[in-house]
Amino acid sequence: MTDQVSGAVACRSCGASIRFVETKGGRLMPVDAELVKTFLLPPAVGSRALVLVTERGEVRRGVEASVTDQKAEPVEGYRPHWASCTKPAAHRKERA
Ligand SMILES: [Zn+2]
Repeated sequence: MTDQVSGAVACRSCGASIRFVETKGGRLMPVDAELVKTFLLPPAVGSRALVLVTERGEVRRGVEASVTDQKAEPVEGYRPHWASCTKPAAHRKERA
């Protein structure tokens, strides 16, 4: 079994603890180091979707739901770090 998730490293922009997950497309995506376990419903129009990257590198989008919602699907994944990075401008600069 291939491990798609790297060990925790410090973000070069803000110093936060992050990991890199290899996505299905073969790209490395920076994510927050902490694994999030939640329940998701399909994203509804006009609602803010939560994005999680699973340990297999799949990107999941949905609306956070409670465990009691029968249509909700359990999802474990990492939040993309660009959403929480305190210095996202540095990432954009790096890419340009
Ligand atoms: Zn950062």
